[in-house]
Amino acid sequence: MVFQITNTSERDWLSQVRDFANHRIGPAAVGWSMGQTPGGDDFTVAGQLGLLGMEVPTDVGGRGFGVAVKMAAMERLAAADFGFAMSVVNTQNVALRLVVSAPEWISARFLPDLLAGRMSACTALTEPGVGSDLAAVSTSARRSGEGWVLDGEKCWIINGRHAGLALVYAQTDPGAGLHGLGAFLVDLNADGVTRYPIESAFSQTSIGTGGFTLESVYLPKDHLIMQPGTAFREILQEINGARTYVAAMCCGMLNAALEAVTVYGRRRAAFGKTLSDLPAWREVQAEAETALAAVQALTWEAVARIAANKDARLAAAQAKIGAVETCQRHLPALLHAMGAEGLRPEHCLTRHLAAVQSAALTDGATAVLKQHVAKLSRPAHSTKEA
Ligand SMILES: Cc1cc2nc3c(=O)[nH]c(=O)nc-3n(C[C@H](O)[C@H](O)[C@H](O)COP(=O)(O)OP(=O)(O)OC[C@H]3O[C@@H](n4cnc5c(N)ncnc54)[C@H](O)[C@@H]3O)c2cc1C
Repeated sequence: MVFQITNTSERDWLSQVRDFANHRIGPAAVGWSMGQTPGGDDFTVAGQLGLLGMEVPTDVGGRGFGVAVKMAAMERLAAADFGFAMSVVNTQNVALRLVVSAPEWISARFLPDLLAGRMSACTALTEPGVGSDLAAVSTSARRSGEGWVLDGEKCWIINGRHAGLALVYAQTDPGAGLHGLGAFLVDLNADGVTRYPIESAFSQTSIGTGGFTLESVYLPKDHLIMQPGTAFREILQEINGARTYVAAMCCGMLNAALEAVTVYGRRRAAFGKTLSDLPAWREVQAEAETALAAVQALTWEAVARIAANKDARLAAAQAKIGAVETCQRHLPALLHAMGAEGLRPEHCLTRHLAAVQSAALTDGATAVLKQHVAKLSRPAHSTKEA
């Protein structure tokens, strides 16, 4: 790619991220895709590199980068492993949220461990009965003395199986829908919390998906860090960033697949030539390259709008839909172009093919995003005609 980062120190840092992705995360991901569990060391090295505090201000120990650097870093990391990249970015997002919204004492308690990679963190909206329809969140938060008591269950949460800290969205006013949602900081090692891993044949080890139940978990009042009435609006703003980094990650995965296929095609002999000498074989590659260039442009448009504080709802949704569907279409074709060799875990093809199915669901499922795009770009009913 791709993203035009011109600052020299930012470019140097992104080169370090690329080296970390290529030489450490990529090789380790071969085992993760076959069910092995990542060791904590990789997360610690990510912390040393500053990946867990990319946007966190420098005066509290972060790197203080802007959104474009974050997107470029995620694109590089996901090229090696989408799950690890998601685990990292979800921790960094909670670290940033602590700095922006939490009382200083809570931030002081958790931030050093998060930035250093000694602890992961998660954001928990989804529940067994609630996915896209967030107004239906049923985890309850009721007032108790000076604080709150939480009851409910969250599932399909990135880092859910090992996170030390969760930002949990809960309903404070039954019947109030989105306006009643508040966001609470929950220590996942506290009494009343029981966690469990969520496994799937589409490997979930590096992304760390899990769930947890909350049974009468008491929280002091200052653990409500995003207030009912405004919390939902804040999610809607943040989600444009999340959709855009998922798009950037998909670009990274497709780019990595193209690289793998190209290298293989140059050395695989077939019919007295190499695969890359066969025009029909090159067509698959050319189609994927063209589609990748288009979604990179869409993604960059979304990044630019977010960086400029412009309305990014349409651009972010289009970038995510475009990047996910481009991967869903071209990764199988690229895998096929490598023949049986493409199925080996040493190559990224099968890993990225599985990951893109997760990308299609996180931060707005494709079908739901399409409704947003339709509404935002051309309303179904024109007021002029009425
Ligand atoms: C790997 C992974 C990681 C995740 N990480 C997190 C996390 O960290 N935190 C978190 O809170 N959640 C997380 N999720 C959950 C994710 O946000 C949900 O999967 C997503 O919101 C969709 O919800 P659902 O799976 O319950 O599907 P549903 O909402 O039940 O939807 C099922 C299908 O119906 C479609 N659909 C739903 N509504 C409409 C509609 N109005 N019109 C047309 N089609 C519709 C959807 O597109 C989908 O295809 C994760 C999921 C996965 C797979």
